[in-house]
Amino acid sequence: MNACGVVILGATGSIGTSTLDVIVRHSDRYRIIGVSAHQDVEGLVAVCKTHYPEYAAIADTNLATHLRSLLDQAGLDTKVLSGSTGLLELATLPDADVVMAAIVGAAGLLPTLAAVRAGKRVLLANKEALVMAGPLFMQEVDAYGATLLPIDSEHNAIFQCMPNDFKRGIDVVGVSHILLTASGGPFRSWSRTSLNEVTPNEACAHPNWSMGRKISVDSATLMNKGLEVIEARWLFNIPLERIEVVVHPQSVIHSMVAYDDGSVLAQMGYPDMRTPIAHALAWPDRIESGVRPLNLVEVARLDFEAVDMTRFPCLRLAYDALRQGGTSTVVLNAANEVAVEAFLTGHLAFTAIPAVIEETLVQVGSIVADSLETILEWDRKSRIYAKNWIEKQSGAHF
Ligand code: NAD
Ligand code: MG
Repeated sequence: MNACGVVILGATGSIGTSTLDVIVRHSDRYRIIGVSAHQDVEGLVAVCKTHYPEYAAIADTNLATHLRSLLDQAGLDTKVLSGSTGLLELATLPDADVVMAAIVGAAGLLPTLAAVRAGKRVLLANKEALVMAGPLFMQEVDAYGATLLPIDSEHNAIFQCMPNDFKRGIDVVGVSHILLTASGGPFRSWSRTSLNEVTPNEACAHPNWSMGRKISVDSATLMNKGLEVIEARWLFNIPLERIEVVVHPQSVIHSMVAYDDGSVLAQMGYPDMRTPIAHALAWPDRIESGVRPLNLVEVARLDFEAVDMTRFPCLRLAYDALRQGGTSTVVLNAANEVAVEAFLTGHLAFTAIPAVIEETLVQVGSIVADSLETILEWDRKSRIYAKNWIEKQSGAHF
């Protein structure tokens, strides 16, 4: 059997690193043919030194020369690609059988879509692509015969608990609803007033998962769960009313599918992204991931709570945007990215993140999201609005 060629978009990040960790355990099955990073040249070179891909792409074009010289110094003849065209080339390499889409944020949309249009097996971590362009993205998956496998642990769990033929429609296959579990994040039991003082490092210290900074803040505001509700809506073609969110602080049940006969199937395991990554890499086979076997006696208990949308308004904003439809979820995503960045760089209070998003949703408004151009234009507009608004409120430029 020829080893399967893998491209990792976002190879230096948290998901990228976990993907590499799974792949080295199966060097007979997989070979890394391309990797990318945004600006972390040293990190990308370190990946090249260990995994010898044929291509390395750096999104920031200004850093391409630096990347070339570090690769030369290391005696590597890795081909260098750069900028948005470099990412598109990487995502569509003829030798790539699998593309791991692990870029964070809206920047992941175009390369991920390019991999879809090249008919690849796409491992989707970049949930923002579906939040921005869900219907269009899923339409392209079908049109180009791509295989889309969810990496987000909740969606991967749902995929595992769904019947194989769920694409026929959830009513036909007897699915009643899905239950998305949420850890509740690091501030699950904090009072509303104490949330005002939250620092970036506190927000990034997730109790169960180790992740990149943007998704860590999203988990702390519960926007991550909001983005995941939208992601589930499109991935499984399931109406919003049939997606339930339940807080489960231990993060051992990664999500559930409820059937018409009262059965509820859950997928369980330790909170470690190598499980969904290994699942999607090998599907429909199963391979070892490096995650230790679940010890239920050690876990001892599984708790569940209702979600509190008053203390965590981001989740309500995500529901509202999905209900509104059109470009609303594009605005939601863009304003959130700007607000999270402002929070991480000390220009915005944690509790002001939902205010920025709400204000941007109201002011930028929504139209029918019938083309990629419209989606990208609304993304741009929303970023400008959100940034100006934060600068006006804080008096600072960032
Ligand atoms: P991260 O910040 O650790 O890594 C992001 C990667 O994307 C890096 O390689 C970075 O260089 C690259 N990148 C960042 N901005 C870019 C840009 N503008 N252009 C090109 N490349 C860029 O993030 P992560 O935690 O690995 O998350 C990646 C994606 O996976 C996100 O969409 C996140 O929501 C999703 N996800 C992550 C986890 C997790 O456990 N980390 C779980 C579920 C879903
Ligand atoms: Mg998740």
